[in-house]
Amino acid sequence: MTEEHDNSTSDLPETEPLETPIRFLEGVGPHRAKLLKNLDVETVRDLLWLIPRDIVDLSQLSLVNELTDDRIHTIRGQIIDSDSRAISRGRTMTAAVMRVDDGLVRATWFNQPWMLRQLQSDRFLLWSAKPKFRDNRWEMSHPRMQWLEEDDENSRGEVLTKYRLTEGITLDILRGYIRTALEFVKGTLADDLPERLRKHYKLPHLEEAISNLHRPPTVEDFYAARRRLVFDEQLDFQIGMALRRRLRQTTERSPEIIVTPKINARIRRLFDFTFTDGQEQAISEIVDDLKESRPMHRLLQADVGAGKTVVALYAMLATVAAGYQAVLMAPTELLAQQHWNTIHEALLHSRVKRCLLTGSLKPAERRDRLAKIATGEMQMIFGTQAVIQNDVKYHQLGLAVIDEQHKFGVVQRGRFQARDTVPHVLVMTATPIPRSLCLTQYGDLDLSTMTDLPPGRQPIVTSLVQTPKVEAKAWQFVVEKLNEGRQAYIVCPYIDSPDPEAPAGALQIFKELQQNQLRDFQLGLIHGQMDRAEQQMVMSRFRDRQLDAIVATTVVEVGVDVPNATLMIIQDAQQFGLSQLHQLRGRIGRGSFRGFCFLFSKAANEDSLQRLQAVERSNNGFEIAEADFALRGPGNVLGTEQHGSQPFRVTDFSRDEKILLETSRAASRMVQAGTIDEPDFAPLKRRVLERFGDQLGLTRTG
Ligand code: ADP
Ligand code: MG
Repeated sequence: MTEEHDNSTSDLPETEPLETPIRFLEGVGPHRAKLLKNLDVETVRDLLWLIPRDIVDLSQLSLVNELTDDRIHTIRGQIIDSDSRAISRGRTMTAAVMRVDDGLVRATWFNQPWMLRQLQSDRFLLWSAKPKFRDNRWEMSHPRMQWLEEDDENSRGEVLTKYRLTEGITLDILRGYIRTALEFVKGTLADDLPERLRKHYKLPHLEEAISNLHRPPTVEDFYAARRRLVFDEQLDFQIGMALRRRLRQTTERSPEIIVTPKINARIRRLFDFTFTDGQEQAISEIVDDLKESRPMHRLLQADVGAGKTVVALYAMLATVAAGYQAVLMAPTELLAQQHWNTIHEALLHSRVKRCLLTGSLKPAERRDRLAKIATGEMQMIFGTQAVIQNDVKYHQLGLAVIDEQHKFGVVQRGRFQARDTVPHVLVMTATPIPRSLCLTQYGDLDLSTMTDLPPGRQPIVTSLVQTPKVEAKAWQFVVEKLNEGRQAYIVCPYIDSPDPEAPAGALQIFKELQQNQLRDFQLGLIHGQMDRAEQQMVMSRFRDRQLDAIVATTVVEVGVDVPNATLMIIQDAQQFGLSQLHQLRGRIGRGSFRGFCFLFSKAANEDSLQRLQAVERSNNGFEIAEADFALRGPGNVLGTEQHGSQPFRVTDFSRDEKILLETSRAASRMVQAGTIDEPDFAPLKRRVLERFGDQLGLTRTG
């Protein structure tokens, strides 16, 4: 025997059965345990929480003499004959005959000649369709086909579960381990969810759920079991969020900022346009929050160009008018500078004392500004992370606006809170987030969403360009528009190209354009390896129209605002995420002239083509985020940097939105009503604090 023999129960450490290391499970051993690690299985719990990726329903099979033409039937058998032939003018008909236990059934496919090859296998398979009785036999047209694996062939009357596998672990082996594990934990699984909660949400008991997840008597049982586990996972997290919110509301105080009608009127006078309905709505939600001593924690979500900065500025001005300081933190120096410019213009006739606080200040300047911030003389502060460094002491900070939250993450958000009163916090994000993700990423924030754009915006025309010929036409178009006085961005995914074989970087493209396509124009270059002063110089020359076009990397992604720039060419567009492309494109939809965006992509494969077409088709950031999400999954939509280790194992964000909403509501209710503190909820609460207490800054007592 091998090392697998070595697992007598005397070796078992004293642990809860679920936490038993997988190598101690009967039949596993150290070698297979190592292989199972590839499936993230290290304990018995991990094994039992493996969610099947698919199920095969063999519980409802029909025999030939049970077929009827009034509903869908599933039959199981082997193919004994198949052919494909032309029927008329280029049309083909492919047919196959399956031998079922008690007879034969035929299936047909029109115009799918390639089917023939698959149909020549002698593996067992299932066909599902509504059959018709024709020419004395049963026939199915275009049935749903599911091939069975060898391991499945002898199973009948069961719902089979399929799993993701790994080298050395076959389906048969895995199923065996799971069966052993189910036996092993039988009768030991305590359910942390109190019975009244399970009843209310129609959730099976944990033990039943675990068993039905892997060996479901019916398809419905499987889905109920899966729902229970996703519910558990999400409920924990949502309760954690709700507890964090409660903690903040009961222990933290913020200044009460009242917006009087007079202040309101004075602020509005600074803008030479009327606010959109979306802006009005967001402003009124913020004003409601600011007047409370309970700190605001609000996420302002809107598409690019919807006018978030204006809303933020309103809130900042209201704060200053009430006698407190307001700070705006941007993710990059360039963006901080941009905000500063925009807001500086809006505040030209205002006496509000304001300053920019970034990392590139000279020490003396910085010292001077810090002193004025500490005395309260400085009322509005703009900057990068520099605004939350330890040496920045505010006199009375009333409001912190954080732009582009997803570049910071939760930790920085917390940094403002180390004083006796904490500021109200407004987070702005220009990357619309699908609702389900929003709940998990920002579940502790209230949400304001603006879905409208300022009037007069023309939708950007976006074209996917895949051939050199069409590229030439695009350049010709750009030249025409530049001659009319417009300006252009040329965006590149790379700064420099390592060799001539690799895709060109901004440096190469800049040279090429200077010599060829754009030789008659003033061209600038901007990228992240230039120092900040240089970057700002290029941007201000572009803004002042001394440059007709700039070749740029993604430093222009967010916030840059030059209304006369209406053209954008994105090189190697398949290298960017969808939301990022939408962000980039947002730079040219800012003025009264129509914007044109060309997505250059010669190397696009089928997948990236589909994604680029989503951007070509839609101008709506929310729609694009949903598409991105459906095509690439949540981690990629938000970028990995803000994800860290996702605490979610069983949730499938594209399928489980309903459960997310349900658990989010359940958690809020439970925490608000205090149910979570009642005795029968204690095991659940303990579990939440164990899992998320540290991460969410909750004390162990909640
Ligand atoms: P966002 O930050 O949401 O991308 P901004 O706040 O930068 O958008 O606004 C984009 C542009 O629209 C700015 O030039 C701004 O002055 C202008 N703008 C904002 N709100 C309105 C409005 N209600 N009417 C007209 N123009 C507006
Ligand atoms: Mg903005």
